Amino acid sequence: MAISATRAKIAVSLRGTVKNIGKKHLDIMFEKNPYMKGIYPGDTRAALEVFWLCEAQGEYFDISDPSNIVRDTIIIGNGNTVQTGYIAGEGCIGCKLCYSVCPQKCIDTSAKPVVINQNHCLHCGRCTEICPKQCIKKRGAA
Ligand code: SF4
Ligand code: SF4
Repeated sequence: MAISATRAKIAVSLRGTVKNIGKKHLDIMFEKNPYMKGIYPGDTRAALEVFWLCEAQGEYFDISDPSNIVRDTIIIGNGNTVQTGYIAGEGCIGCKLCYSVCPQKCIDTSAKPVVINQNHCLHCGRCTEICPKQCIKKRGAA
């Protein structure tokens, strides 16, 4: 199952496996979401079944402050971790060209190889395009 939601320039997306747990926790769901009582008044909620998102991976992505975007990985249960974004590796000469083109300035050039702050990276790929040593690669690539 895939779920996505957006509010006030913050997006959350999840992809994973659900289990049908019948009526279990249905009352709790109505307590947490009071508007549901208006949609399913009285005992009409008996038509509903609850699905538990037991294993999933997803992402939190916040662009409410354009100059300081924030993203993070969400893992539920034993959901697989698929790494995204970019990472600098062997061969970096510390020229800082990557930093000069990075729209979020999220590359720490005090180290060699440089270190990309994954929580602020847009995944735009500008750094890898300009790197003269081709030492910035996609994370999770073979
Ligand atoms: S552009 Fe490439 S070689 Fe230059 S600092 Fe960045 S990662 Fe290192
Ligand atoms: S992918 Fe884009 S945002 Fe991320 S470090 Fe490279 S240039 Fe910066």
